[in-house]
Amino acid sequence: MNGPYDAVVVGAGFAGITAARDLVDRGRSVVILEAGPRIGGRTYARPFAGREDLMAELGGSWVNRDLQPGIRREIQRYGIALAEDVAPGSAAFITDGVLRSFPVPGSEIGDLERIVGHLRDASKRIAPSQRLSSQPIRDLDVSVDEFIAPLDLGPATRDLLYATIAWYTGADPREASMLSFIAQTAGFGHSPYGFASALTERFVGGAGTLLDSMVDQSRLEIRLHHHVARIEQTAAGVTVRTRDGQSVEARSCVVAAPTNVLRHIDFSPGLSDEKRNFLAANHQGRAYKPSMVVRNVPPRPFALGMGALQAICLGHEFADGSSLLKGFGGEGAAKLDPTNREQVEAAVREYYPDAEVLAVDAHDWNTDPLFDGTHRIDRPGQAYDFLRAMNEPEDRVVFAGTDVDDSVWRTWMEGAVNSGYRAADGVSVILGR
Ligand SMILES: Cc1cc2nc3c(=O)[nH]c(=O)nc-3n(C[C@H](O)[C@H](O)[C@H](O)COP(=O)(O)OP(=O)(O)OC[C@H]3O[C@@H](n4cnc5c(N)ncnc54)[C@H](O)[C@@H]3O)c2cc1C
Repeated sequence: MNGPYDAVVVGAGFAGITAARDLVDRGRSVVILEAGPRIGGRTYARPFAGREDLMAELGGSWVNRDLQPGIRREIQRYGIALAEDVAPGSAAFITDGVLRSFPVPGSEIGDLERIVGHLRDASKRIAPSQRLSSQPIRDLDVSVDEFIAPLDLGPATRDLLYATIAWYTGADPREASMLSFIAQTAGFGHSPYGFASALTERFVGGAGTLLDSMVDQSRLEIRLHHHVARIEQTAAGVTVRTRDGQSVEARSCVVAAPTNVLRHIDFSPGLSDEKRNFLAANHQGRAYKPSMVVRNVPPRPFALGMGALQAICLGHEFADGSSLLKGFGGEGAAKLDPTNREQVEAAVREYYPDAEVLAVDAHDWNTDPLFDGTHRIDRPGQAYDFLRAMNEPEDRVVFAGTDVDDSVWRTWMEGAVNSGYRAADGVSVILGR
């Protein structure tokens, strides 16, 4: 059927599927249009290229049930199995151009203490249970250099902070607004390094196990290979048209595609000027995450610093002494082809000089036209107003997705789920008018 549905949802990631599932649970008729050949969007697990006995998690993987209420609720509802990571052991840091086993030299321990305190104090101004754009925190929407200016930090401490922000954002750390980073610090128990220590649980079989359960149990109708090109609204409803000329009629629409690709959808009538201005330029989040099979590294490695990869975490240790590691870098901090074994090996050797990378696998989210980047990272001065603007509906159309999630969990899977809940509530209001 091509409608009229109560709602049409654009994008079958966590946000779109959560919104559709909630609406179907409320007795609404819903169809999801997904441009790609699979569901899951920026969560993507598949056999490791060249090592099909392993699974590569190429997008979102880590969650925390204690801190993330939406993920906790969904996992409990569907009885999804999670596995706990082992704690890191052999740490390596590159700060101020030096490879170290402690992040900063002894002379900067006081600086380290001050930046951690400064971040924690800023995060305590944010209430994790409330919408970010409703809180008086616009002054935190600044660059890292503006944020740390009063502290006069030493070079190693500054590099440690830059590396942490680059790890989280995949951006040049000096070009990213601090608001999201400080907000997530609030989410992770007001702990600046909370995301490193608290994100220790992963879905057994990948995040798709949860999404598949949501789709199957609520019998969601999903049409793959339906690339939405135009969304038209009239007083009576919404017509969503795909690139290849198909159309679906509905009384409302949830747009849950990544914000970097929204400028390729033709909205009629056009979006508000504010939304259009924000969406005209790419955001800064251009991360890469190579999965790699490595040997000759110390037990349970963890690396952080201003190398070609800004972080390396353990995925799994094998009986033969090799390890599955995840690297994190971003185009903004250093150029690297995450699918090139030699380049990835050189990057790992900056931290672990004897390392041998046997195989590497990655998805290039930045050149994939359905994403054109990773999670949304705003420029300084744009994060706060972007959230406020994007969470305003356009008559019968509401926006969802982790990129627009107006909570401390923005950018994470929790943010996508949260925005899905909110979108379903927004659509319910529209349908009840
Ligand atoms: C490398 C990487 C690592 C990450 N690590 C973590 C982590 O460890 N933990 C965590 O919680 N989060 C992590 N994240 C973030 C997490 O994956 C995302 O927050 C979440 O998956 C986003 O879900 P979403 O529904 O908002 O968007 P998406 O999953 O991107 O879904 C949007 C969908 O819209 C589709 N689409 C695009 N254009 C169109 C169109 N025109 N018509 C129809 N459909 C369209 C896309 O194909 C996509 O399927 C990571 C992300 C990346 C990229």
